[in-house]
Amino acid sequence: MATLRTALTDVVGGRTATLLDKAFALQTVGDLLRHYPRRLAERGELTDLAALTVDEDVTVVAEVRSSRVRRYRSRSGSLLEVVVGDGRGTLTLTFFGNRQTWRERELSPGVRALFSGKVSLFNGTRQLTHPEYLLLRGDGLDAHEADEFASALIPVYPATKDARSWTVSRAVDIALRMLDPVPDPVPSEIRARHGLMDFDAALRGVHRPASRDEWFAARRRLTWDEALGIQLALAQRRAAASANPATPRPSRADGIAAAFDERLPFELTAGQREVGEQLAAELARPHPMHRLLQGEVGSGKTVVALRAMLQTVDAGGQAALLAPTEVLAAQHSRSIEAMLGELAQAGRFGAADVATRIALLTGSLPAAARKAALLDAASGAAGVVVGTHALIQQHVAFADLGLVVVDEQHRFGVEQRDALRGKAERPPHLLVMTATPIPRTVAMTVFGDLDTSVLAELPRGRSPIATTVVPTADKPGWLDRVWARIREEVAVGRQAYVVCPRIGDGGAETDLDAADEPVADDAAGRRPPLAVTDVLASLVAGPLRGLRVAALHGRLASEVKDATMTDFAAGAIDVLVATTVVEVGVDVPNATVMAVLDAERFGVSQLHQLRGRVGRGSATGVCLLVTDAAVESASRARLDAVAATTDGFELARLDVEQRREGDVLGVAQSGRRSQLRLLSLLRDEDLIADARAEAAALIQHDPDLLEHPLLAVQVGELVADDRAAFLDKA
Ligand code: ADP
Ligand code: MG
Repeated sequence: MATLRTALTDVVGGRTATLLDKAFALQTVGDLLRHYPRRLAERGELTDLAALTVDEDVTVVAEVRSSRVRRYRSRSGSLLEVVVGDGRGTLTLTFFGNRQTWRERELSPGVRALFSGKVSLFNGTRQLTHPEYLLLRGDGLDAHEADEFASALIPVYPATKDARSWTVSRAVDIALRMLDPVPDPVPSEIRARHGLMDFDAALRGVHRPASRDEWFAARRRLTWDEALGIQLALAQRRAAASANPATPRPSRADGIAAAFDERLPFELTAGQREVGEQLAAELARPHPMHRLLQGEVGSGKTVVALRAMLQTVDAGGQAALLAPTEVLAAQHSRSIEAMLGELAQAGRFGAADVATRIALLTGSLPAAARKAALLDAASGAAGVVVGTHALIQQHVAFADLGLVVVDEQHRFGVEQRDALRGKAERPPHLLVMTATPIPRTVAMTVFGDLDTSVLAELPRGRSPIATTVVPTADKPGWLDRVWARIREEVAVGRQAYVVCPRIGDGGAETDLDAADEPVADDAAGRRPPLAVTDVLASLVAGPLRGLRVAALHGRLASEVKDATMTDFAAGAIDVLVATTVVEVGVDVPNATVMAVLDAERFGVSQLHQLRGRVGRGSATGVCLLVTDAAVESASRARLDAVAATTDGFELARLDVEQRREGDVLGVAQSGRRSQLRLLSLLRDEDLIADARAEAAALIQHDPDLLEHPLLAVQVGELVADDRAAFLDKA
């Protein structure tokens, strides 16, 4: 008899075991039984041959229509040609070699079989060359095989040239016959609550279902296990993290935070107030806050974060704000200083006594400024320290770091966050902000160890952004309209962005500040992507002659970047030709048009982020996605989708759909496959939410799963699995 841990060699024999190991890295009975059938073929039903695509490895159920032996014209010998059909389409099977009378007899008209091979095209006909096949016992037909296919449903397994679907199937049969009843790791109350089949039945039912319903029920149960495993691991992480001690940073009625609220020039939205209260309460606790704040571009996350930072300052601590780029760090520090006014002028004559200081610390600061900032951070004189990665490098010390705010999370790795957290005696509170909307399922998995808040509404007075795709392949004249439109806006005192995928002038191809790779799904044989330096030169010489045009990209010296942004914000520059450095957080309300060139080279979320830079004031924003992608292309469809909706969550879904789900989960595609076989971030939203709730409840009263040792083992395997890298993405 066998358990899930029994080696396959002991069950199916050395030869098959080696085959399965080579083909799919299956080593134990458990591995094999987690190699689920891709689909079920129905015995009475034939595979839709018309749907087969060339080059695909297929396993089909088909009926032999005719067969004939053909002699070669130029040399001696013959081949056997068998035509199989499904009523609609046909497929030709060719078998080379003489003396195939036995095969001809076996594959006589009317015989049904499973055929397996790679689809190729020959003289316009789709065919399988020398396919392997397995005869199915038909009505009254005398077949000598196929006992394991006696049932009406035939499991079709992922297969390779050497390990065919039925090879796997036979091994599964043997394994299932030898397998002792498998104990269920999931507590029966949970199973009952969610109507889950028991584990042993699911494992058998997914391979040998008596009906389609049973198959679905089995898959649902096994999908649940995957979701529950992840959620338990995440719940344990959350529990461990929040069990750490942290210095409480309670609010004060008479501090800088209150003074700041007094001078706010606008009213907070209901969402900002609500999230604000949540943060205020969590900062006051003796355990670290771990929160993800999601909010559409322009939803006002900065104010929310600033209020939390000021509460920390009121409690005697410091706050660090990490931005992904120097441009953004500089802008944050400028706008925070502006919002705080005299409250940021501690030490100056006439400053309020609750005042603090803001320090900006980036990699390319002049030595003197850098020294001053370092000193302010170390002495505690600066209540708020704003910076880039440089903040988390060796020499930076804080007097008492109480809160870390990470803006635009997707650009920061977990190591960087951890390095920064390590700057404090005790783990500081952590607030991660992202404007890239994250579908709920991704929030629950990839970011699953953070609690989440959402700023759903935009402040009043925001105008919508109108996005238009400008196709230059079929409508070359439209590009002129783009430049004309920019001139019109500038003529009435507005400003514009022109975004390009590349910097140009040699050096780094893309912007070093931009972490996302531009998307190019049909890059082969195309011209290189447009570059800032080239576009700038041709614009000032041509369509935008006479306007004040400047470049902005990651390779510029930081003083230049800074000066350019300041000038643009002050209205001294009309048009900024830039890379994706403007993607994140840049806030110039007077900019109303953005033209994205080679738009098909950007990802969906990136485009959404980019266009969030216009329409930040009261005038309607216009975003023009310029592309020469063909009308029918996938690129064009993606751009049309971005133009069709401004709902960031909808777009995030699209993004998940287009990237492979594996990438989203961060699961390596190479080597052994991850533990996640069935779980889908797109389809299983409700299931993930249920599993998350159950996991939280379980871990709350039994953090180490002592009462559920089998479950603990399962989670342990998941966490130990280095392919489960998604856990570390959080
Ligand atoms: P994001 O969430 O994209 O980071 P910001 O924090 O940069 O958004 O806010 C965008 C703009 O909206 C800023 O100029 C900010 O001052 C302004 N703002 C924030 N909250 C409000 C509000 N409640 N009412 C009006 N304007 C606001
Ligand atoms: Mg922002």
